[in-house]
Amino acid sequence: MTITAPDTGTIRARLEEVRQRIAACAERKGRAPEDITLIAVSKTHPVEMVREAVAAGARDFGENRVQEAEEKIPALQGTGARWHLIGHLQSNKARRAVRLFDVIHSIDSLSLVERLERLCVEKARERLPVLVQVDLAGEATKAGAAETELPAFVEKLKTCERLQLVGLMTLPPFFAEVERVRPYFRRLRELRDELQRHDAFGDGGMGELSMGMSHDYEVAIAEGATMVRVGTSIFGTRNKV
Ligand SMILES: *Cc1c(COP(=O)(O)O)cnc(C)c1O
Repeated sequence: MTITAPDTGTIRARLEEVRQRIAACAERKGRAPEDITLIAVSKTHPVEMVREAVAAGARDFGENRVQEAEEKIPALQGTGARWHLIGHLQSNKARRAVRLFDVIHSIDSLSLVERLERLCVEKARERLPVLVQVDLAGEATKAGAAETELPAFVEKLKTCERLQLVGLMTLPPFFAEVERVRPYFRRLRELRDELQRHDAFGDGGMGELSMGMSHDYEVAIAEGATMVRVGTSIFGTRNKV
């Protein structure tokens, strides 16, 4: 499938539309729109398109591959862009991820936690905010910690000086019928609330909920998302995944 890159006006207009929809959803729930961070998922799209999004006011960007991010992030230095790693991180790429990303949403193993903490010490990085990715559907094909493993992640992260647990992330199964995804978002919120009660987020943090993509971010916001990861609705269809 080949899609031509949308022109400047299109990215700006799409971004504006997504922002308006986020604000409308938030208001319906009596939430402040500013409490929801829009992460523009730029994976597979060229640097020029990210620049257009920056020019249109986007600040947070999501990438799922270290190698691709390595080509893009340095090219956008000085723009004020913040980078979120939203894809599975292989341990042999952890070092580069620590150098590149502001936030890592895809913590899915205890050994990754240990490795990242060690690398932060080594690289004198004082703080690395992370989210634990929770695999709520128990899909073998998807990365993520099982619900039952969450306490172990919390315990491990409490022992870390550099890594800071700031929230939970999920990538539910795809359903054409968007309502079917709602129980997953609701469950992630319940898990977050439980961790909140146990003061798992440190510094009195409320705990972020990173959930919702182009086709379901409105449902996610209704269920409490504080970070939505939107690619297609901003940048158009991807040629590759
Ligand atoms: C690609 C991706 C997204 C964005 O998906 P869209 O459907 O294009 O909005 C969100 N989250 C993760 C983890 C992704 O890999």
